[in-house]
Amino acid sequence: MGCAGAYRCVAMGSIGREAMEITADHMIHFLERVAERIAERRDELTQLDSPIGDADHGSNLDRGFSAVLARLPALADQDIGAILRNAGTTLVSTVGGSSGPLYGTAFIRAGGILAGKMSANAEDLLAALEAGLEGIIARGKAQPGEKTMIDTIAPCAAAFRAAIADHQDLPEALRRAVAAAEIGMHATIPMLATKGRASYLGERSIGHQDPGATSAFYLIQAFLEIVVEAQGEQ
Ligand code: ADP
Ligand code: MG
Repeated sequence: MGCAGAYRCVAMGSIGREAMEITADHMIHFLERVAERIAERRDELTQLDSPIGDADHGSNLDRGFSAVLARLPALADQDIGAILRNAGTTLVSTVGGSSGPLYGTAFIRAGGILAGKMSANAEDLLAALEAGLEGIIARGKAQPGEKTMIDTIAPCAAAFRAAIADHQDLPEALRRAVAAAEIGMHATIPMLATKGRASYLGERSIGHQDPGATSAFYLIQAFLEIVVEAQGEQ
């Protein structure tokens, strides 16, 4: 097999093994995919935010990621960190709801980890994901089990870490991370909300899937799609 495109070949002993790297171009494609997916899911996200919120999660994120999309052409030669930081500051400045500052902080923190990098391997991406999660926790003061986006992202990051420790390659590690994210998203249904707008409902928040946990799943799923497509480029 050759070493073109998304791959950097790393010789390991006598066997040639390829460690996959995600480039700045892939990160641009990821943000384009997120903008597309959020636009497709806009009404669903807003409907989820209707019984336990103020019915604006889909429109909030669509506004934010449309603004991110509009700024991507200006970032063509930038490193991965700069691309992610730019997305984060755009989300903070364009999304009125609490999800804007939360996702914005996550992208800014993840971008800080990948500052100056034109490509990132699985360990780099894990560090960025964990920094993003820590940013959301620092900003929103929620913990797992409070019925928020954290209930998707925390198990996702844990599964990604475990898969890398288990020497899985990037696509397989991400597949496991996305599977854990999906379970985490569904696990918000029986939870009692104790943070954010849904917490105003108390017991009546039980029985509804959290909108932010759902958008977080779509973001992570979009990243897996880009990685699988990058693998196919080879
Ligand atoms: P708002 O609640 O201000 O209308 P959105 O509707 O855009 O903002 O986003 C709501 C989502 O934000 C929730 O479904 C939840 O996942 C997430 N969220 C709210 N507060 C917090 C918090 N403190 N920590 C983490 N996530 C939160
Ligand atoms: Mg809302």
